[in-house]
Amino acid sequence: MKGTVLYGPRDVRFEELADPKIIKPTDALIKISATCVCGSDLWPFRGINKITRPTPMGHEYCGIVQETGSEVKTVKPGQFVIGSFFVSDNTCPHCRAGYQSSCQNRELIPGAQAPFLRVPLADGTLVATPENPSKEMIPSLLTLSDVMGTGWFAAVAADVKPGKTVVVVGDGAVGLLGILSAKQMGAGRIIAMSRHETRQKLAREFGATDIVAGRGDEGVARIKEMTKGIGADSVLEAVGTQESMTQAIRSTRPGGSIGFVGVPHGVELDGQQLFFSHVRLHGGPAPVRRFLPDLIDLVWKGKINPGKVFDLTLPLDQVAEGYRAMDERRAIKTLLMP
Ligand SMILES: [Zn+2]
Ligand SMILES: [Zn+2]
Repeated sequence: MKGTVLYGPRDVRFEELADPKIIKPTDALIKISATCVCGSDLWPFRGINKITRPTPMGHEYCGIVQETGSEVKTVKPGQFVIGSFFVSDNTCPHCRAGYQSSCQNRELIPGAQAPFLRVPLADGTLVATPENPSKEMIPSLLTLSDVMGTGWFAAVAADVKPGKTVVVVGDGAVGLLGILSAKQMGAGRIIAMSRHETRQKLAREFGATDIVAGRGDEGVARIKEMTKGIGADSVLEAVGTQESMTQAIRSTRPGGSIGFVGVPHGVELDGQQLFFSHVRLHGGPAPVRRFLPDLIDLVWKGKINPGKVFDLTLPLDQVAEGYRAMDERRAIKTLLMP
């Protein structure tokens, strides 16, 4: 088969790779129905995360089970499945506590931007849908593999509750789906921080009640002004820079909570500032597997439509253009069809 390989900064190739096959009895082999480019793929694409050798890319996936290893019990060939970007056994103490992305046996999904994928620990990683979905539903189901699950975790970690005021820092796919999550959890007011018109529009569609375009001191001042000088109850941080993290901490009221899911790059926290801010911080790689059954149910019943974050669809062999479009912010998120 042909798959996606990153060779170095801005050098994505779609080239011949070995066909994946079952290696361990706990593996499943799936035929990818749809995959996509992640914001986090842009770190190595831009050369900010260095890679040392040609690296197969992609960790967001859904598709049809082709074959399973002899020990796999919960999924079977022919079923449509979705799994997290980290594989997990779903049985160790961290998994049982709901932190499958810290599984004692976790592995990162390798090379999902391809027509076929081997998924290790299939029983603990994959969740099947009730039946095979319609074509229209597939993009929404695909988002559950990472960005929707991550936005949801940000909202859970930020303790979003009915009627509360929520600020979302970051208008990428995760931030936008954090807005959708906060709305679904009953937030009263959702303030999206965004300065891009197309993203502001989608933010409103997903449930944002207010938009703040300012950043830094100006952004914080605006949030304070909008909350009578108090700050937000819950803040979702979905960027991972010093500026966004500082923005999140300074926008939160004393006693409020921050869910941070942007992978930090060069973020350093000031102990004194944190101490006197009186905020709760919780974040990390989202335990997507914890939320998969409930989120599949919400998509299946048509209650949420997170697939709207895909504003560019390309055939898989044009994956390099998918990266470029996101890198140049011409697209929020690229859907790839094998
Ligand atoms: Zn991702
Ligand atoms: Zn585990």
